[in-house]
Amino acid sequence: MGKELTLQQAGVILQSTERTKREQVYRKIAERRSKDNVVLDELFSTLISLRHQVALNADMQNFRDYMFKSYGRFDYTPQDCFNFHEAIASEVVPILNDLSLERKQQLKVPDLRPWDKAVDPLGREPLKAFENGKDLTEKSIESFKRLDPFLGQCLSIMKEMGHLDLESRKGKAPGGYNYPLSEIGVPFIFMNATSTMRDMTTIMHEGGHAVHNFLTKDLPLADFKSPPMEVAELASMSMELISMDTWDIFFPNAEDLRRAKREQLEDIIETLPWVATIDQFQHGLYENPNHTSEERTQLWNNVLARFSDSVTDWSGLEANRDTMWQKQLHLYEVPFYYIEYGMAQLGAIALWRNYKQNNQKGLQSYMNALKLGNLTTIPEIYKAADIKFDFSRAYIKELMDFVKEEYVRI
Ligand SMILES: [Zn+2]
Repeated sequence: MGKELTLQQAGVILQSTERTKREQVYRKIAERRSKDNVVLDELFSTLISLRHQVALNADMQNFRDYMFKSYGRFDYTPQDCFNFHEAIASEVVPILNDLSLERKQQLKVPDLRPWDKAVDPLGREPLKAFENGKDLTEKSIESFKRLDPFLGQCLSIMKEMGHLDLESRKGKAPGGYNYPLSEIGVPFIFMNATSTMRDMTTIMHEGGHAVHNFLTKDLPLADFKSPPMEVAELASMSMELISMDTWDIFFPNAEDLRRAKREQLEDIIETLPWVATIDQFQHGLYENPNHTSEERTQLWNNVLARFSDSVTDWSGLEANRDTMWQKQLHLYEVPFYYIEYGMAQLGAIALWRNYKQNNQKGLQSYMNALKLGNLTTIPEIYKAADIKFDFSRAYIKELMDFVKEEYVRI
């Protein structure tokens, strides 16, 4: 104690199996954040009114409509986003509730508190997926190769050319990403891997982006090669799920393998409602640009309540909950850019379902869709992948039923 930690370092302690330690660090994080609440709130009010003015200057009714045009969102409307919110609230939040209840029972705590979310509910050590950068490289190539020789070849070429810089080392910039190099057509992947499961899923994800680059490298114009996020993330998120069939390479122990796959699916169940929360909040913000700070807090709490589990006990932490949106940098820096992740995640589940039904056909449609690059509309690309660009409640229910089945079967 008495040591200064970054928020990331403090965040790791939230996984500690000692509950008092978790609570202590949670409260310290909240306390530190609270010191900047007012400044961040004022900054946000200024941003909203400036953005609203930008929209009016462009003869738009509000900044939401302005951003839809600015992003070139020709394939879906705000109403589609509302349908997405509706479907997540009715089809995903109940599963989130079940998982939270299970977590509470496994932890054997009288109340599930916000600091009980990141710890392994059975008190196990974190999963270890590989030894070092070299090991991660070999295992990833092996995994991709087993799915399809072409996929393995993509990563092998990158390895040969020194385009896989995976290991964390002193002085290296933070982050993890795949970067396309249009001229030579072979991208590189940059990461800060240690040995965690998250590092392993990151390379599966970035590997999906890399495959996308390989499949579009011969298209004549650079713009043809870079599709919008709803498609780019479909390539990467699908690979996270499809590759699960080969994760025994990383987790030879059957119990570890099962745990890793379950954590992957739990992550999806937690992320989709958060995406809906941030998106719906933004619609509300820019439809009501004159909200006072109190009205904004009210809006936030209404939206958050719609997409949160009803198991967690927030008593005494209301002030912290009221300002939780401030940790989402997209709200400040890239307004309305967030729902893409939710759309691509649903697409990835649908693609994974196809793959599970017929491995070869599923992979072929995946590659057919990726090959299209940015040549056609999002719905057309999804169609080439044999999936729908659809946010109806019925479709999302179908996908979630599949996730639930797999979760039990794993
Ligand atoms: Zn990505």
